Formats: sequence, C-alpha cells, structure tokens
Amino acid sequence: MNRRGMAVVVGGGIGGLAAAIGLHRIGWKVTVLERLPVLDDAGAGISLQANGLRALDALGVGDSVRGAGAEQGSGGIRTPSGRWLARMDMARAGARLGSAVYSFHRARLHETLRGHLPVGQLVTGAQVTGVRDGEEGAVVEYEGDSGVQTVRADLVVGADGVHSRTRRAVCPDAPGPEFTGTTVWRAVTDWPVAGQADIDQTWGPGLEFGSTRLPGGFVEWHALTEEPLAVPAGNLMDEVRPRFGHWHDPIPALLDATAPGTVLRHDVFALDTPLPTFVSGRLVLLGDAAHAMTPHLGQGASQALEDAVVLAAALHSAANTASALAHYDTVRRPRAQAVAKAARRTGRVGHRVRTPLALALRNTLIRATPAGLALGQMVKHAAWTPPSLPTRTEQATRRTYT
Ligand SMILES: Cc1cc2nc3c(=O)[nH]c(=O)nc-3n(C[C@H](O)[C@H](O)[C@H](O)COP(=O)(O)OP(=O)(O)OC[C@H]3O[C@@H](n4cnc5c(N)ncnc54)[C@H](O)[C@@H]3O)c2cc1C
Repeated sequence: MNRRGMAVVVGGGIGGLAAAIGLHRIGWKVTVLERLPVLDDAGAGISLQANGLRALDALGVGDSVRGAGAEQGSGGIRTPSGRWLARMDMARAGARLGSAVYSFHRARLHETLRGHLPVGQLVTGAQVTGVRDGEEGAVVEYEGDSGVQTVRADLVVGADGVHSRTRRAVCPDAPGPEFTGTTVWRAVTDWPVAGQADIDQTWGPGLEFGSTRLPGGFVEWHALTEEPLAVPAGNLMDEVRPRFGHWHDPIPALLDATAPGTVLRHDVFALDTPLPTFVSGRLVLLGDAAHAMTPHLGQGASQALEDAVVLAAALHSAANTASALAHYDTVRRPRAQAVAKAARRTGRVGHRVRTPLALALRNTLIRATPAGLALGQMVKHAAWTPPSLPTRTEQATRRTYT
C-alpha cells in the first residue's frame, strides 16, 4: 500500500474539490490553492450524469450532493416552434445506470463540495505561478496574501481548468486549448418559472437553447451559437433576446425572469489535440486541465469526478505514487479523450446546422431515431462503475493503527 503523503491541488473547481475529498479520504494531507479571492462560483447551472454522481457516491458525498440538486426524469429536443423532435425517458436511463441525472445551481454544488473539506484545506486568493518536479520533490509557487510562497509536496494535482498552468509543466510541448467557435450565454432565472420540462433543448438554424429545472422551480438556461471571440460588454440580454425571444414557451418567460446583469457570456475553448500523457513525475492533470471538452454531451464535470475517484483509488492501492499515477494515466486518458471526441462530434448536429436543407435532413433523422436508440447514446457515456475507496470507518481504523 502506498505511503500517505502531502498533496497540493491547484484549482478549487469541481475537479479540484473532488480530488481533495478523495485524497483526504485515503489519508493524504491536502492543500487546495484557488486563485479566486472570493468564491462567487459564477457559471449558472450544471447537470451531473449518472457516472459523475456515482463517482461522488464513491467519495462518500453523493447523497449530500444530490440533496443540493433537482432530479431530472424527462428530457427532449424541440424545434423553435415547440414541435418535439425526440423525447427521452431519463428516469428509465437512470434506473439502468444506477443514478438519475441531477441539475444544480453551480454555486450550490461548489458550496456542497467545499463543505466536505476539512477547515483550512482550501486557500483562496492563491494564484499559482509556477509548478515543477525535481530532486527535492514537487514544488508549487503561488502569490497570496503574504506575497510569493513556495510549497513542496509528494504530489501536485493540476485541476486548474482549461487554461491550466500545470499542464504546461506536464506537457510543455502540447498545443494549448483552442477556441471552438462556440459562444454561450447562460443564466439562472430570478424566480421560479412554470411550464419548464426537466431538461429541454431546442435546435434552430445556427442556434441552440437549453434549459433545466433547478430546485425551487428556478431554471438555468444556456444559449449557443457560433460567434467570433469577444470580450463581454453591455447588456448581454440584448444579444440573447433577438435570437431566442420569439421561440416556443417557456423560453420568452425564462428571459423575462432573468435579470439582464446576471447573464454570462463565454467563448468555449477545448483541447483539440489530445494530450500524450496526464502525468509527469509527481505532477498529474485532472478535469478540464487534462481533457477540456465542448459542452455538448454535458460530461465535462462528470469526467473530472471520475478522474478524482480513479486517482484516489490508485493512490490508495498501488505500491507507490509512481505506479498509482501510471495506472491513473492508463485508465483515464483513453476514457476521457474518447468522451471529448464524442462531445465534439455531437456538437456538429446542434447549433452548427444552419441551411434549410441540412436542418430538414437532421430533424427527419432525429424524428426517425427510435427513443431506445437515443437513450442508448446517453447511457453509453454515463455507464461507468467507480473503483471503491476505503469507507470512513476503515480509514479511521488505519489512522489509529498505522
Ligand atoms: C457552457 C458550459 C456548460 C457546461 N455544462 C456542463 C454540464 O451541464 N455538465 C457537465 O458535466 N459539464 C459541463 N460543462 C463542463 C464543466 O463546466 C467543466 O468540465 C468542469 O467545470 C471542469 O471542472 P475543473 O475543476 O476541471 O475546472 P474549472 O471548473 O475550470 O476549475 C478550475 C479552477 O482552477 C482555478 N485556477 C485556474 N488557474 C489557477 C491558478 N493559476 N492558480 C490557482 N487556481 C487556478 C480557477 O479559478 C477554477 O476555480 C460545461 C461547460 C461549459 C463551458
């Protein structure tokens, strides 16, 4: 069994927090360095599929996370006039996969995950400026309240997102993330809105609108199109309304229920070239830092959660850190990169379709696809069984007797 050491996690997003929970669970000392001084958790809503939730179950926090979200039983795709192209029985898929899909306000999800970390483990306002591995162990430099600081660790987990600095230390020659051409506006309504299906997607010419029911009847919505890169400015609702304001109900009501100042705009970046490795010495990448993907399958965060569990389980059971990280790379890289590839492929059939002929062909094809087949596509990526981690009791026993 591997010696329990000291780990630094760079980044306190979903992946970093889950990694810290997993490492803590197997008895490692963990420090999470997060650059944001105030955790405002901007980012509207997020859905976790069965694989992400089963990863959280393995970390021992699945029920508490589900308690912060809304279970989704049905879903489908429509045209802008409201005509259904496909419906999905997500409850049936959930029964097959071992968990339903849950949707969250991102802030609530982050808050819940943070609540499972011991006090003092998360350092905010800590901008990591350098990561390296050498004779003296892994070294992380960061700028915080007390100026520039250096920490040494037995392991550094780079969970610092799509524009990861740690990635540059692990794969210095790999190309960085590229703009996918997709721009997303997103927000959560200020008040509950009636008439919202659980998970609703609407595909129009060159445009896509998605919305999801959150706890309390609030709704998260996101709207996609292809736009040149831009710095968000002005009233972003003025960019959304002309494109989507005349689409089927309840889309106009969702926009009416959203304070314009809360709309976010993101240009989506992804790692187009898969990384040759997620590991270098005592440095390991996880989440978007390792495999930033387009959002079209809604799998990015669930893949980060899978990473976190596999990493903790490997460190717990392998003879040493090097073999644990080699195992992690062997298991996680093919899986996460295959999901990223599938997400990119899925993106081609949504807002990227614009001409009337292509739209008619696509819609006919979707209508002709049996519901069971569509469900099979969803089940395909969410079907995953986590490795097991020690229970809290086993861990407490080890702490007492080792
Ligand atoms: C529009 C959109 C919708 C999406 N919807 C879904 C969905 O429904 N379901 C799903 O599963 N996925 C979804 N995703 C993907 C998902 O958001 C990401 O895959 C997931 O958040 C990745 O988590 P992470 O922890 O790896 O990275 P992040 O969430 O990006 O966290 C990285 C953290 O590192 C910090 N950081 C960065 N650099 C430094 C540094 N130098 N020093 C210290 N800290 C640093 C950042 O501040 C941040 O807190 C969506 C993505 C987009 C763009």
